[in-house]
Amino acid sequence: MKTIGLIGGMSWESTVPYYRTINETVKQELGGLHSANIVLYSVDFQPIEQLQHADRWDETGHILAGAARSLERAGADCIVLCTNTMHRVAASIRESVNIPFLHIADATGAAIASAGLQTVALLGTKFTMEQEFYRGWLQDNHRLDVLIPDERDRDVIHRIIYDELCLGQLLEKSRDSFRRIIESLVVDGAEGVILGCTEIALLVGPSDSAVPLFDTADLHARYAVDWALGGAKA
Ligand code: GLU
Repeated sequence: MKTIGLIGGMSWESTVPYYRTINETVKQELGGLHSANIVLYSVDFQPIEQLQHADRWDETGHILAGAARSLERAGADCIVLCTNTMHRVAASIRESVNIPFLHIADATGAAIASAGLQTVALLGTKFTMEQEFYRGWLQDNHRLDVLIPDERDRDVIHRIIYDELCLGQLLEKSRDSFRRIIESLVVDGAEGVILGCTEIALLVGPSDSAVPLFDTADLHARYAVDWALGGAKA
């Protein structure tokens, strides 16, 4: 079994389920007392979040590239970046190490292909929903048609992520907002919905949606185990 290198802390609320899912999946696969070989580098999210909102992505790239190099020195065989948004700087991270980088949108795209869906909605931070790095990856590498909410609803989701979910606050009225937004995207033609922010599944589950949900944190964690046990290709 290979060693999985996690860059976490963005937010730590969603790094916890990564750790649990990776270990539970290894236990299911190998049985007995087997658990995963993991090295975790968990960052302080506050300065990263400030750089994101100041549009200073290069600096976030340097910080995360440093984290990736530390993981490589510590014996990691791959890098798993436990956030969708920070895949904006995936190239800087990838270039800074000699081990594979397991892209969260590849884990997601593979699951959507297995489900046989073509048109999916993407929910996440405004950075993830509006910028090309994520939608473009899904469109170019996985041939998916990707819908996003209208501007007002993108603002609602962005605010819930940073002001509530990343702080561990799970509010019923915010769950209702997600339900409403998902419903309108289904009316627009979404056959499935990508929970493209690693915290959303802390609040929203299958009973909140008429169509399948793709929880990127869960899919990414399982993809990493598949890779570590010799299945998925990076
Ligand atoms: N964890 C979130 C994501 O998956 C948002 C926090 C961040 O900006 O990294 O995009």
